[in-house]
Amino acid sequence: MLLKDKVAVITGGAGLNGLGYATARLMAAHGTKVVILDLERAKPADAAAQLGAEHLGLVADVTDREQCQVAAEAILGKYGRIDILVNNAGITQAVKTLDITGADYDRILDVSLRGTLYMSQAVIPAMRQKQSGSIVCISSVSAQRGGGILGGPHYSAAKAGVLGLAKAMAREFGVEGIRINCITPGLIETDIIQGKMDDAKKAEISSTIPLARLGRASDVAGACVFLASDLSAYCTGITLDVNGGMLIH
Ligand code: NAD
Repeated sequence: MLLKDKVAVITGGAGLNGLGYATARLMAAHGTKVVILDLERAKPADAAAQLGAEHLGLVADVTDREQCQVAAEAILGKYGRIDILVNNAGITQAVKTLDITGADYDRILDVSLRGTLYMSQAVIPAMRQKQSGSIVCISSVSAQRGGGILGGPHYSAAKAGVLGLAKAMAREFGVEGIRINCITPGLIETDIIQGKMDDAKKAEISSTIPLARLGRASDVAGACVFLASDLSAYCTGITLDVNGGMLIH
């Protein structure tokens, strides 16, 4: 058990095929009380109930600062602590630079980047009180290679922004025992890619990956558990690539 008696909050964790839920399941198996935050339509309470009665699902839109604060207060009211935050909520859109509207830009950046800021702001005061905590931010290989898989340039920008924000927060809060790290997944088979990839595209992409397979949600969940646990106690401000070797040049 790597995370015994910890309390972990996972945004965008209600989709049963998603990276967030896979992380929730693995963290629960490692002894953590898990709180799944997601939009109402994603039914976070149902997802949490599948993990067991000691876990919690709450509706919270991470683009809304007040909803993030209210969720953090509810979690502290129930469990008295927050040890881990996984900033996982994100949306994508396949569109070219010249076609990005202002509304597209706001929508895509707000969930990944503003959401990472707002949820981090909501939990850091409780972590500060304990002088301990781990925040894991889900960025993307798209931030490093300029997209080109499924998301548009605004998605790459949002995920690159997450890398910068996480490093800046790691610098600011390291001295208080709060570690903040990023994961940059490659292409992982979840709902976010459903309907956007035909078999030919999948084959083309997997031929560029040394491990020659697309990622699984459990690959990212394992990396989240590592970064949340004391196994990575001397890691902060890092970017952990989980991409099958896609960025080896
Ligand atoms: P997913 O669609 O299953 O998960 C995204 C979750 O975020 C959903 O449950 C959705 O309801 C939730 N969400 C959306 N807007 C929200 C909001 N405003 N507030 C709260 N929750 C919200 O997709 P996934 O593949 O599991 O993606 C998880 C994360 O991983 C995302 O940030 C995504 O950008 C990132 N990522 C995915 C891949 C991939 O190939 N699957 C690769 C790199 C990065």
